[in-house]
Amino acid sequence: MATGALVIFSGGQDSTTCLYWAMSRFERVRALSFDYGQRHDIELECAGEIARRAGIEHDVVDVGAIFAGSSPLTNAAVDVGAYASAEALPSGLEPTFVPGRNILFLTIAANRAYVSGCDTLVIGVAQEDFEGYPDCRPAFLDSMQTALGLGLDRDIRIEAPLLHIDKRQTVLMARDLPGCMPALAWSHTCYNGQFPPCGTCHACLLRSRGFAQAGLDDPLIERARAASTP
Ligand code: ZN
Repeated sequence: MATGALVIFSGGQDSTTCLYWAMSRFERVRALSFDYGQRHDIELECAGEIARRAGIEHDVVDVGAIFAGSSPLTNAAVDVGAYASAEALPSGLEPTFVPGRNILFLTIAANRAYVSGCDTLVIGVAQEDFEGYPDCRPAFLDSMQTALGLGLDRDIRIEAPLLHIDKRQTVLMARDLPGCMPALAWSHTCYNGQFPPCGTCHACLLRSRGFAQAGLDDPLIERARAASTP
């Protein structure tokens, strides 16, 4: 068994599942979030809340507005797309792509892992993002792992437990990880930063379809429903 894992943690569905995946496998787990001028503070608030409830040490690294640009996730002047259904989503590179984000995150995370004695980085990149996001491809992760090992005097392993599974399988994995489903009630996915989730953005639609295909209720939606019931 490896000794320590550092989870790159956005507070979203995928990285929350990765956090619990790591907690089921590693003796020590830490979580690392990035403040990069993302559109919504709710992301970091959710990450902090989930880590606190899980009893996991959680650091936030402020990298400033380094990714300012054309993605609506980092530029409030650009609208997030709205779609009628998951089937209506366009293929190809999403406008939400933030160039270089995973390259920088893995590089900084390798430093934090090194100094905290962790030998593994866990990142929640997923197969469904392949065709859209070039930094979610296996070849990229393999190359980064090689580069990090060459740039340090020890190997840092990169684990991407969701890489080869779809959103339905991610939900089923969460179901089988103790504590993960309750934690997902506090996760955040909506590109519009809304709670209850907007239900029409790219991220909301993929999340909703995954739970529907798995035949399970989304704990986040249940929490939203309970919050709106007097
Ligand atoms: Zn949304």
